[in-house]
Amino acid sequence: RLITLDGIDGVGKSSQIEILTERLRSEGREVLCVRDPGSTDLGTKLRAMLLDSDLQMHRRTEAMLFMASRCEMIESTLRSALADGVTVISDRFLLANVVYQSVGGEVDSQTLWRLGRLACGGIQPDVTLLLDLPAEISMRRVGGEPDRMESRGVDYMAKVRQAFLDELPNAGGRTHVIDASGTIERVAEAIAAIELF
Ligand code: C5P
Repeated sequence: RLITLDGIDGVGKSSQIEILTERLRSEGREVLCVRDPGSTDLGTKLRAMLLDSDLQMHRRTEAMLFMASRCEMIESTLRSALADGVTVISDRFLLANVVYQSVGGEVDSQTLWRLGRLACGGIQPDVTLLLDLPAEISMRRVGGEPDRMESRGVDYMAKVRQAFLDELPNAGGRTHVIDASGTIERVAEAIAAIELF
């Protein structure tokens, strides 16, 4: 089972992943948590580059680096974990890559889905949970020093939010939109009500 959580910044993905992981483990399931981008040595380096505010790159270059990070993560751990029957929870996956990198208009989403299928080598989520929140609230929640991506502002985030909703049906497997505007507990309850297996 590959379960992925996604959404714009500040929707509370990390907290929900922690709660979900705890719950599934307490039910006796073996769970592996991965982060996209990240999780491997290469992925961690690529992630640092992608978030570096001083580094300029074309949107297609950016898209390919996200793809490379995911490919490495799949081939180093995710594929074999799934084959062993482990439940894998991924913090973001291809959907985010398609959404974030197509919103600027330099690369179209169809190309990214195609590229993504190549990079994922046949792996796709069984369940995608999209945590949804208005961009203004999410930006307020994030606060602090913005990274290279967050510094693109609230209008960009609003477009990203809409693109997540539009592209979600293409993510493969079952997809759910979750209202992330409530408390952590409320959102966790909404997730707990979803049949994941
Ligand atoms: O959620 P996470 O901490 O992994 O995201 C890191 C940053 O990278 C966020 O600001 C997010 O908006 C951005 N991002 C992106 N394109 C992706 C994935 C994440 O711009 N494909």
